Amino acid sequence: MAEYLIAGNWKMNGLRAELAEAERTAAEEIADNCRVLICPPAVLLPQMTALLDGSMVRLGAQDCHPEDSGAFTGDISAPMLAESGASYVIVGHSERRLSYRESNNLVRRKMQAAWRAGLTAILCVGETETERNSGHAHAVVGQQFAECTPEDSTADKLVIAYEPVWAIGTGRSASGEEIADMHGFLREEASRHFGPGQEIPILYGGSVKGDNAAEIFSIADVNGALVGGASLRAADFIRIIRSVPVAQA
Ligand code: PEP
Repeated sequence: MAEYLIAGNWKMNGLRAELAEAERTAAEEIADNCRVLICPPAVLLPQMTALLDGSMVRLGAQDCHPEDSGAFTGDISAPMLAESGASYVIVGHSERRLSYRESNNLVRRKMQAAWRAGLTAILCVGETETERNSGHAHAVVGQQFAECTPEDSTADKLVIAYEPVWAIGTGRSASGEEIADMHGFLREEASRHFGPGQEIPILYGGSVKGDNAAEIFSIADVNGALVGGASLRAADFIRIIRSVPVAQA
């Protein structure tokens, strides 16, 4: 695997005019130890797929339905995303957990749907500020990981994104100690679930910017970032991509 994954989550931002931002990112020379992913709104996937054909930038989606097809008005299934050019899908983002009351059980079914369609699932976990302040951050994140990850799953096609809810879109990133502590905890949980030696990428997400990316990437067990706001403009996103440490020969 590439040592670092830098994933941009455009959320509900981006019209056709913003395709140029993705093109600018794709024109960037990307180091061998880095994989870049853009998760635009699903309606842009087919155009972006055509536009980025032959580039190093991969495409992902922001959510999928747990079923492959059916009477689910307004929803989009994992096979539809795969056919539209996505190779990754984010599941369990805190905005969906909070706005749509998505449970761990539903997120687990979405992960299974993603895998059936051959997609890599980016599983988001993270505690709220109240949960952290009351000393429950490990318990909450551990429970999310355990309940969202199917018992019979393998470590293939799985990426974990630790995204403390209080750090998303607030400009207030978690501290180096907080990130190191939670990533170390998740590494242990993953190793308990899948067996030792499985190299599941663990991304950090929450107010990652050009200014703090290099410091975050230097933390043990950080294998990249899930980036919201700073992924919308190519200039900002490229600064983050350029912050990936140079590969050791
Ligand atoms: C996100 O929504 O996944 C995220 C990390 O957002 P931001 O970078 O804007 O905090």
